[in-house]
Amino acid sequence: MAEVLIPEAISGPAMDLLQEEFAVLHEPALWQDERSLMLAIKDAKAVIVRNQTQMTSAVIEAALNLQVIARAGAGLDNIDIEAARRHGVIVTYAPRENSLAVAELAMGFLLNLARDIPNAHTDTRNGNWNRRQFMGTELSGKTLGLVGFGRIGQMVARRAKAFDMTIVAYDKLLPVDAPVVRELDVEMLGLTEVLQRSDYISSHVPLLEDTRHLFSTEQFRQMKENACFVNTSRGEVVDESALLLALTDGHLRGAALDVREVEPPEFGQLAELENVIMTPHIGAFSHEAQQRVVETVCSDVRAVLRGEQPQSVFAG
Ligand code: NAD
Repeated sequence: MAEVLIPEAISGPAMDLLQEEFAVLHEPALWQDERSLMLAIKDAKAVIVRNQTQMTSAVIEAALNLQVIARAGAGLDNIDIEAARRHGVIVTYAPRENSLAVAELAMGFLLNLARDIPNAHTDTRNGNWNRRQFMGTELSGKTLGLVGFGRIGQMVARRAKAFDMTIVAYDKLLPVDAPVVRELDVEMLGLTEVLQRSDYISSHVPLLEDTRHLFSTEQFRQMKENACFVNTSRGEVVDESALLLALTDGHLRGAALDVREVEPPEFGQLAELENVIMTPHIGAFSHEAQQRVVETVCSDVRAVLRGEQPQSVFAG
């Protein structure tokens, strides 16, 4: 009987150690089939998930001995937190471990948008040498608008400052006089002002009821002409049909998307646009970040199963 169920692809030395101590059932494709998941989870004391397993109320109810849901990552939108609480199941996660990887991807997107590196690369690979076609712009002196100024937003600000960008930010909950605001010399504004002032807008909000489609027709219209939009947060915070319109009618110069409204997305019009850069939700996928994430979740699962206090409990 498995004590620890892992229904997604998760591996690393910390996982090997966990397997030495507990009976672990690792079935990387199990998340795709809710019925099989509900059967497999019945006796498990712990489940370790990434963002693909949907830990719905029904799945949590089917787990008769579950003590802990460990989320190998930061966002908790695939876990019914309320259902977990009702059933006395602890939720642990890794809120800090992959932030740097996401922040560095966002910086990569900014540079790629400024210099059109993806198209220059493809064109050069095709045997061309079109230097004049790829006249770019500089990040220096431009304004970066961060929507969501938490861990990742702050890391992006720190790095963008090294590129001499001016930083403005909107955060619904962070006090405008928080020490980090002064330390990073960031101007905290309302959402509309951030959109109106920025040459680049980067989203770093969690997916919540009030952030779903936070970026829709009105918000894209409020952005400066020729602005670029970057999303490494969650796909559902963007109304993709509104983004498509803003890009095809020439209002926005470009966009870079690590996350999509539906994942994996159908091949559609966004993917055909040359001014859109896309990656398959790889923000957290650096070797270093994954090692940190797996170490944290394995250590917390071990703690719960030993009756000790885990480190990263979601307090919500
Ligand atoms: P965080 O909780 O530290 O920061 C989020 C910030 O958003 C907080 O300061 C919060 O006050 C603010 N916020 C909440 N609701 C808001 C609203 N309606 N309007 C404006 N601001 C609002 O989280 P983080 O670690 O910085 O991560 C941000 C998001 O990045 C995560 O929730 C996750 O969805 C996403 N993420 C993506 C990847 C990836 O692979 N691409 C990896 C990790 C995290």
